[in-house]
Amino acid sequence: ITLQMSTLVKDLSFPELGYTYSALEPHIDAMTMEIHYTRHHKAYFDNLQNAVKGTEMAEVPFLELLRNISRYPVAVRNNGGGHYNHELFWSLLSANGGGMPQGALLDAIVKKYNSFEEFKEKFSDAAKTRFGSGWAWLMVKSDGSLAVSSTPNQDNPYMDVTECRGIPVLGLDVWEHAYYLKYQNKRPDYVSAFWNVINWRQVEKYYDDAIKSL
Ligand code: MN
Repeated sequence: ITLQMSTLVKDLSFPELGYTYSALEPHIDAMTMEIHYTRHHKAYFDNLQNAVKGTEMAEVPFLELLRNISRYPVAVRNNGGGHYNHELFWSLLSANGGGMPQGALLDAIVKKYNSFEEFKEKFSDAAKTRFGSGWAWLMVKSDGSLAVSSTPNQDNPYMDVTECRGIPVLGLDVWEHAYYLKYQNKRPDYVSAFWNVINWRQVEKYYDDAIKSL
């Protein structure tokens, strides 16, 4: 997956998943992956296209739309966020994931959170304590430092309606549709399992790209 951030909204395509629905078993089950990708993400994508069709919003680069989301209808905020968040999320997961980040990202994590374990706890807390539906994030702020946050619904750190803004490098979907079939009400178990499927090589790349773009 290559994130389509500079693509005009009307030219966005629904991304390939890049692995099979069962690839992340046992941490994320195949049925959840199939429904999440083919129905939930697909619906956000289609609803975004329907919401912008024939308007000036269709002619805007996707990242610009997200960064100025307060100007646009709530359907664009929800479905535009839904499309971006899921495209990012799929790209962060791998059957060969888990372990730890390395290099500049690890250095930045240790600088901000003292250790990878302390960062992991902070991010997990953000995911577990987000009330209702939403996302937990690790982002690069405009001064180059890292921050952990959570957002409601399909908002994300790019959006000008969000308190803690930055460039997302890691995101975790904590909507019930992301975990309920396997984990039911046990969101903390799903959050723990997430660490086994994170593709840190991809997160490191997003971090390096974010720092370069400042
Ligand atoms: Mn989702």
